[in-house]
Amino acid sequence: MPAPEPQDTAEPATERAPKMRASNVSVFYGDKQALKDVSIDIHDDRVTAFIGPSGCGKSTFLRTLNRMNDTIPSARVTGHIELEGEDIHASAMDVVQLRARVGMVFQKPNPFPKSIYENVAYGPRIHGLGDGKSDMDVIVEKSLKRAGLWDEVKDRLQESGTALSGGQQQRLCIARAIAVDPEVILMDEPCSALDPIATAKIEELIHELRGRYAIAIVTHNMQQAARVSQRTAFFHLGELIEYGKTKDIFTNPREQRTTDYITGRYG
Ligand code: ADP
Ligand code: MG
Repeated sequence: MPAPEPQDTAEPATERAPKMRASNVSVFYGDKQALKDVSIDIHDDRVTAFIGPSGCGKSTFLRTLNRMNDTIPSARVTGHIELEGEDIHASAMDVVQLRARVGMVFQKPNPFPKSIYENVAYGPRIHGLGDGKSDMDVIVEKSLKRAGLWDEVKDRLQESGTALSGGQQQRLCIARAIAVDPEVILMDEPCSALDPIATAKIEELIHELRGRYAIAIVTHNMQQAARVSQRTAFFHLGELIEYGKTKDIFTNPREQRTTDYITGRYG
């Protein structure tokens, strides 16, 4: 199988400080080490893709970035992670606030069993954003527009979010993340439950959101990584094997293990 051709190799014009910086991050589940000494910078003007075979630690690493591993009792994280220079494990860091700043979209769309409007308004309301109904209407409309869903739902905002199609539900979840004005959006295989047309819409949306938010996406689909990202990190057995420009990873990898993976020598 030929390696996928990177399609979006646009490079940001300036070299800014990274939005997030992970240094020497390891994760253990009980006494089993799932992630070994991973260091990656995440930039806000590009999309970063995490690829690698199933079980290599992609989701585990993604979850360290907004402390979602805190919700797994057996998980223990070591190392240092900064958001805009702030240590996300510092006692001054409010984890609810952190997860608003670093939003997450999951593999399976998981809208609340509430109206489309409420799915989007919920976060801003608990974070005290928006002052009254008309402000909230503006936030909801803006978030749904940004998530590319407004035209499809504007006449049925009071219908349940769970009644939407899978692709629409996933865009609703993206709107929900956007509504609290995040700095980073983490996406864990956001298209794996979607059909090709819904997948194409999400990929298009990622293009549109790039530059406004730092985006990190886990995907087991190398073609998708090549299409949507400017940086790619390849993980294998809990190690970060290679991290670089997407174009280089797919056309000129430095490591044999990367070559083996992108040419389909192992799953
Ligand atoms: P990926 O997303 O690349 O498929 P994961 O991060 O889900 O990989 O898993 C990495 C390793 O950690 C695997 O060996 C997996 O079995 C283990 N793991 C993941 N989540 C848990 C958990 N909640 N408890 C115990 N082990 C886990
Ligand atoms: Mg995973």
